[in-house]
Amino acid sequence: MFLRFFFLALLLSCSSDSISSQKNDKPKSIIFMIGDGMGLSQVSYFHLKSNSNQNFAKIKQIGFATTYSSDNLVTDSGASGTALATGEKTKNYAIGVDTLGNSLKTILEYFEEKKLPTGLVVTSSITHATPASFYAHELSRGSEEAIALQLSDKEIEVLVGGGEKFFTQRKDSLNLLEKMQQKGYGIFKTLAEAKGSTSQKVFVPLAADGLPKKNEGRGEILSEGTQLALEKLSKGSKGFFLMVEGSQIDWAGHGNDFVYLLAEMEDFNTAIGVAIDFVDKNPETLLVITGDHETGGLAITSGNHSTNEVNVKFVSTSHTGVLIPVYAYGKGAENFQGFYDNTDIFRKMLDLMGCF
Ligand code: MG
Ligand code: ZN
Repeated sequence: MFLRFFFLALLLSCSSDSISSQKNDKPKSIIFMIGDGMGLSQVSYFHLKSNSNQNFAKIKQIGFATTYSSDNLVTDSGASGTALATGEKTKNYAIGVDTLGNSLKTILEYFEEKKLPTGLVVTSSITHATPASFYAHELSRGSEEAIALQLSDKEIEVLVGGGEKFFTQRKDSLNLLEKMQQKGYGIFKTLAEAKGSTSQKVFVPLAADGLPKKNEGRGEILSEGTQLALEKLSKGSKGFFLMVEGSQIDWAGHGNDFVYLLAEMEDFNTAIGVAIDFVDKNPETLLVITGDHETGGLAITSGNHSTNEVNVKFVSTSHTGVLIPVYAYGKGAENFQGFYDNTDIFRKMLDLMGCF
């Protein structure tokens, strides 16, 4: 109990003073990219299959993280999203709450509290487990209408993803898009329209639920959404937090569909390229890239390196418990070397921001 109070006191010591006093080695902004279901075998498959534009390979600071949840060796995306967003282990299916259902403060909420802008760019619904873990507090990830209601009460400056139906076709008949518009959000149907707007807050709902698969015509939404968010959030800002999710790497794994998987990995790699370019031009930025767990138990079983033939097998249609790679680039990246737990990723980020 005493330790917990001590811990909380340390958390409360987070202030902008502590950031400015250590300006030289601390990042101003964090770009956090999560490949849902992206373990080392997904990265390996992509690496062996593709010839060029290996953005993963540009990153020198690499670690490995464990992903187990509080009640299962194999996590779901709710518990792992919560671990990454709040630094606490919780039960599978929980979102931003501890095992008893108490709300946990997320890294995004720390930034919002400091009046620094934040953003979420995903290819699932914006209310899906991974993005929801950064702003919502619910015992069950399935309550996407309740999660949408919580999102509508936040002030997250850039929102790109699917899930429009959870805002407009609700059991309680509320129209949350109208509500968000009334509190100053620009709601746009395309990234181009959002790019042209001067709204301080933008929401770009691009599908009723999840977005289309990359190999079925989604286009460059993830990388263009990342670009849009970086432009909006960095404008005159003293720092920002952006989470970008390659949401459907996981769905390809559940479907044991290696064509879909490769397309999603390529898409995530392209978005990583956008983030790396931003960090190169804005060196006070930290970029962290990881997965929340592996999906499908992907194995590379045979092939030919000179022809890029790579044969794979999945041993599962669900998640597995293997270690997940963590890549870090930019200011403070060296802190992410080594072997640690997924909850430590949150602690390292918060520590670097002078909040811990
Ligand atoms: Mg996800
Ligand atoms: Zn999954």
